[in-house]
Amino acid sequence: MFNKELEVTLHKASADQLKPKPDQNSLGFGQFFTDHMFTMRWNRRQGWHDAVIEPYRNFELDPAAMVFHYGQAIFEGMKAYRSKDDQIFLFRPADNFTRMNQSALRICMPRFPQDRVLQALRAMVYLDQEWVPKTPGATLYIRPTMIATEPALGLRPAEEYLFFIICCPVGAYYAEGFAPTRIYVEDQYVRAVPGGVGNAKTAGNYAASVKAQVEAHDKGYTQVLWLDAVERRYIEEVGTSNIFFLIDGELITPPLEGSILPGITRDSVLQLARDWGYPVSERRITIDEVIAASKNGTLQESFGTGTAAVISPVGEFCYRDQHIQLNGGTTGPLAQRLFDELQAIQFGDREDPHKWRVRV
Ligand code: PMP
Repeated sequence: MFNKELEVTLHKASADQLKPKPDQNSLGFGQFFTDHMFTMRWNRRQGWHDAVIEPYRNFELDPAAMVFHYGQAIFEGMKAYRSKDDQIFLFRPADNFTRMNQSALRICMPRFPQDRVLQALRAMVYLDQEWVPKTPGATLYIRPTMIATEPALGLRPAEEYLFFIICCPVGAYYAEGFAPTRIYVEDQYVRAVPGGVGNAKTAGNYAASVKAQVEAHDKGYTQVLWLDAVERRYIEEVGTSNIFFLIDGELITPPLEGSILPGITRDSVLQLARDWGYPVSERRITIDEVIAASKNGTLQESFGTGTAAVISPVGEFCYRDQHIQLNGGTTGPLAQRLFDELQAIQFGDREDPHKWRVRV
């Protein structure tokens, strides 16, 4: 299916192609892109080929490119972190590429050679290392993407694909301290259905979720809490993060049954909480159980987990006409401890017993 001996060529940007670096204190998210990108192409005859680290540039695509019509597009999100002594680390990058290959499989795209692509990514981040921010908490966000480029109409798997990785420096998510979120429990729209593509990182999942997010924003909420598509009772995810509840000392997160994205932060949180001796359950949990726990005083904390924010504490849930407040709108101690521990590992300030860091 693919060529294991994939050669990666390097076309370095010339001095006049280098871009001015943005102000490190106003990076925001996803606004500025580094000097280089990685690209490779696939077709049935050659497998993966033309792998190159090259100057960041526009693509030229045929208007009939199948991604524009049938939406074969998948992506990933990961980060590079600069340590105090100027080493640069990736966090569990192999897991992102494994997940991307699983997404590829789900929508009939070709698998790619993960080890070679990780090597190429490390080489590219090394080349663009000046773009990895030095301000505390700021990182280099990495976006691997794969799209169907074959120019043809008619629904079937495309026979030509483009894989690329672009990078952008992003500011600290919590530059001014934790901001607990207000969450709208969505009981009309759904994110994913049983048998669907909820556990794959396909671009279409995100397109389908935007309307609920916009409506929740308009009502004054930060994000939506997604419920299951069948009964609208079981909790699935929060926005583009996985969700956790601490109820009566037990850490609970919904199980991976096909409609939830298997988050890498989720998995890291599960491992840390187990290390620390918390009873941890991956089990179904209904919104009614959360409301009951809130009423009887056993709902201690809730937080989202994801690459962008790491840990995102929930301050309030709104479900129909009920408002559930948590921790008086402040961050709970477990959310804080997990955030501190994960960030310390990611930025190289602490031992890494699980071997999650990969040096660039
Ligand atoms: N769920 C969804 C729908 C997401 O888009 C993300 C972000 N990739 C997550 C959960 C969290 O995953 P991770 O911890 O791997 O970033």
